[in-house]
Amino acid sequence: MKIEKHLIVRNKLPYARGKRPPVDCILCAVARKDPKVDNLMVYQQGEYFVTLNLFPYNPGHLMVVPEKHYEDLREFSDGEVLTMARLQALSLDVLDQVYRPGGYNVGYNLGKTSGASIPHIHLQIVPRYQNEVGFFDILSDSRVIVEAPEVTVEKLRSAFAEAAGGAAAEQD
Ligand SMILES: [Zn+2]
Repeated sequence: MKIEKHLIVRNKLPYARGKRPPVDCILCAVARKDPKVDNLMVYQQGEYFVTLNLFPYNPGHLMVVPEKHYEDLREFSDGEVLTMARLQALSLDVLDQVYRPGGYNVGYNLGKTSGASIPHIHLQIVPRYQNEVGFFDILSDSRVIVEAPEVTVEKLRSAFAEAAGGAAAEQD
């Protein structure tokens, strides 16, 4: 079966157990393009960015992130709420176009009990597909990705550039 060549299993356990990059906050490090962390950013707009999740649940699993280290969404100003909402819409447009998922889970995890592993606030956008491989999750506590993150990053960077260019042109 050809798909096996592209099957990547990234185990989140070492990360969850504390094997993290030696930085105070992984998203602050991504924001300042610290070489100690993988750069999976696909789009940047002012003080906000969209990045691939390092341990994607599914191909195209994105995070919309403010550069400011907020830990609670109630810290957002009205303008920041609007920017986050616009970037959310842009991300959905791009994912619709590139991956055509059947649906999405969109939201914030707030606080450790919710499953949040990074305190720096970020909006998760998880595309959902009709035929997901959930079986390995149960077997091995690993995520199964059917596309290498580097490939996803390439695809999404150009799609975001195109979509954002189009949106800017429409506003003019
Ligand atoms: Zn931070």
